[in-house]
Amino acid sequence: MLGRAVDDASTGSDSDYSNSWISWFLSSKGNEYFCEVEEDYILDRFNLTGLNNEVSNYAQALDLITDNLDDDIQDELRGALDVQARLLYGLIHARWIVTARGLAKMLEKFKRVDFGRCPRVLCQSQPLLPVGLSDIPYEKSVKLYCGRCEDVYSPKSSRHGSIDGAYFGTSFPHLLFMVYPHLIPPKVGIVEPAPAPRANDADTNRRNKRIREDSEALETVGEPASTASVALKADRYRPRIYGFQLHEIAKLQRWQEAIRDRQVGRLEVLEDLS
Ligand SMILES: [Zn+2]
Repeated sequence: MLGRAVDDASTGSDSDYSNSWISWFLSSKGNEYFCEVEEDYILDRFNLTGLNNEVSNYAQALDLITDNLDDDIQDELRGALDVQARLLYGLIHARWIVTARGLAKMLEKFKRVDFGRCPRVLCQSQPLLPVGLSDIPYEKSVKLYCGRCEDVYSPKSSRHGSIDGAYFGTSFPHLLFMVYPHLIPPKVGIVEPAPAPRANDADTNRRNKRIREDSEALETVGEPASTASVALKADRYRPRIYGFQLHEIAKLQRWQEAIRDRQVGRLEVLEDLS
């Protein structure tokens, strides 16, 4: 918490920063997945092309989120405008988080594990990223993408579960991993161990060192790994009864692995050639 307060102090250059609509929106409960869209981005009309067709009372909604709305707007209109302002901010947000600066902001949130961790046991608490299953608003709520199992999950909290997925878009997590390939999680091993307890003993230092080494090792795994080597390493869950694999599933898995091994062999040949 302290870290975040310091961050705010260093980035909040405007004296009225804390009173802005955006900071109010970001601090509202349930909006934790959103990052701050920089005002410069919002004020550049080019970035908002087409959004006037998606949002009713567009001009006033825009004035509201940029704190330029006239004070003499009636309260009842203000309530309706708030709904439109959220929609507009969400749609701008989806565009912003796939820009270089937006990706960097979301990266900070990813590193803070603001989007939670993968519930799949074999993913070793891999941090998640928000993703939309549609880019059109009012179609699908936001889901969470795990870069390790490459699957999507519903948010645990219903507040997060009711956020529109179009406010994050279908491309965001994949673009983030494309821009920051060293963050692509490996298919095996522990990605980011639980934070070490705050103790000053040598044990902690040793552990921290190990964590650092682990993450350095991961960085070398993430980037240059060939498709073939990644495919070979994927952790799979094997259902067993009293230690024995289930007949049908074992048969299916043996078949899948035979196909996989054949494919990996072909990939290795291709990658050797290139
Ligand atoms: Zn996962």
